[in-house]
Amino acid sequence: MNIETKKIDGTKIASIIKQEVKDAVEAMAPETVGLSVITVQTNSSAQIYIKNKQKACDYVGIKSQIYTLDESSTTNNVLELIEVLNDSHSVDGILVQLPLPKHMDQSTIIAAISPSKDVDGFSKENLAGLIAGGSSFESCTPLGIMALLKHENIEIAGKKCVIIGRSNIVGKPLALMLLNEDATVCICHSKTVNLANEIKTADILISAVGKAKFITGAMIKPKAVVIDVGITHDENGKLCGDVDFDSCLGIAEYITPVPGGVGPMTIAMLLKNCVRAAQLHV
Ligand code: NAP
Repeated sequence: MNIETKKIDGTKIASIIKQEVKDAVEAMAPETVGLSVITVQTNSSAQIYIKNKQKACDYVGIKSQIYTLDESSTTNNVLELIEVLNDSHSVDGILVQLPLPKHMDQSTIIAAISPSKDVDGFSKENLAGLIAGGSSFESCTPLGIMALLKHENIEIAGKKCVIIGRSNIVGKPLALMLLNEDATVCICHSKTVNLANEIKTADILISAVGKAKFITGAMIKPKAVVIDVGITHDENGKLCGDVDFDSCLGIAEYITPVPGGVGPMTIAMLLKNCVRAAQLHV
């Protein structure tokens, strides 16, 4: 079978969403939209992610403020800062760049963010909202994946979706979003027995593992939609995803590249959530 595989251009779709956000921010003037980002100086990749978010905020007119704490900071230092930001009228969204250093209590820190400012959608209240309804903010990466599928008019209802990875920020919320759209969802993880069999059944395969070339073309179902969430590096140190992109060409119907697939959509959804937060706070 030789299928013409369509590359889903996340950068292009994200730029359409960013333009919509820019228009919405302009329409809110003289009210402003403010995002505060808390980061603990650890590794350089986190700093790159933050720079990208800051650049995107500048582009759409969101006022971003970065708080960089040094590595010796404590959980309490972060909690104190969050308390100030929760009370500030000029702050609509608060984001803590993960992962935090091991000595910090990540779940206590995330729980301290006011749910109405939790633009990453990581709080228990917002995650529970995906099950029970009423969530203020949904997690940006899964939201971005849903937007990619919808933009390409990919049918979700009745499709078998296999997600590899069960994190609270990608796999679990994405499973609920797909289920809410009437997909049949299977979540796999490191203890899944016979992962290869599960992967072969996927009409829509989403990989969020973080291992280079974890998925190859020989493993996927012909005409599958392949969404690569992973951000990792290959043996030459080059940025790549979980999927061996070239080996899926001619087999997958759709595929997202890394870079330029899910990543830009995550940032676009963060911007969208910030505007929503500001609208809720007016
Ligand atoms: P995570 O918390 O590290 O979770 C990784 C998941 O992969 C876990 O559920 C783990 O299973 C599973 N896994 C590991 N080895 C496996 C194996 N051999 N077979 C099956 N499953 C396996 O990761 P995350 O935070 O969700 O992120 C996943 C990847 O996506 C990373 O590369 C990250 O950088 C990237 N990411 C990208 C974006 C974006 O915007 N593009 C956003 C977020 C994350 P267990 O639960 O059993 O350990």
